[in-house]
Amino acid sequence: MTSVLVKDLTLKFGALTVLDNLNIDIPEGEFLVLLGASGCGKSTLLNCIAGLLDVTDGEIHINDRNVTWEEPSGRGIGMVFQSYALYPQMTVQGNLSFGLKNARMPKTEIQERVARAAKVLQIEPLLHRKPAALSGGQRQRVAIGRALVRDVDVFLFDEPLSNLDAKLRADLRVEIKRLHHSLKNTMIYVTHDQVEAMTLADRIAIMKGGIIQQLDTPTEIYNRPTNKYVAGFIGSPE
Ligand code: ADP
Ligand code: MG
Repeated sequence: MTSVLVKDLTLKFGALTVLDNLNIDIPEGEFLVLLGASGCGKSTLLNCIAGLLDVTDGEIHINDRNVTWEEPSGRGIGMVFQSYALYPQMTVQGNLSFGLKNARMPKTEIQERVARAAKVLQIEPLLHRKPAALSGGQRQRVAIGRALVRDVDVFLFDEPLSNLDAKLRADLRVEIKRLHHSLKNTMIYVTHDQVEAMTLADRIAIMKGGIIQQLDTPTEIYNRPTNKYVAGFIGSPE
């Protein structure tokens, strides 16, 4: 079953065409990585899928529903950004439960969901701390937790690890992979880091100038790059 469908998607900022007639069909449960150099349109594409930007042309479907003109909150997606965007005045517990409280979920269910997410992400001992008392890696786990508690169908990650040092990045990469194995949600993950893409992805979409150059498994892209740009970017012999 298709989870996310991007259909003939074009996005322009004034005269600048940032996404140029993109088509992507993401099956349910896939870990898709959008890989490309800075400025190629990765965040813009993610923001269109999330509903944070209005498309110029084309459609976004989620779970076979055309959501192109729906509000972000109705799309069943959770987004994790590069900057953690946690509420500084609230504890970790508060940050995790805030959205659920706003949605008027019963208290016991909120507690259950927060406890489950904290366990999965191994942040149980941190629930009563405020963000200022957390490390970068811990903050990013809380940010992932906020998407997790909402029980979303699709996770969108925008370079979530790029503010972290190399060791933490490697650790969290393993955790995100583990999370995907246990949840089996569809995940769309933006990065400019080839290693991250090769280790996380079921498939990689390589973007340049708002166009997808190649969309395939890491092995296939490595062994059979369709053009010089892809070969150079992935670092494989052509
Ligand atoms: P990436 O995430 O791959 O680094 P972006 O999607 O952020 O790239 O940006 C793609 C292009 O769109 C860049 O040329 C950027 O300057 C331009 N851009 C992004 N946001 C805006 C905006 N709000 N207004 C005008 N141009 C923008
Ligand atoms: Mg970006």
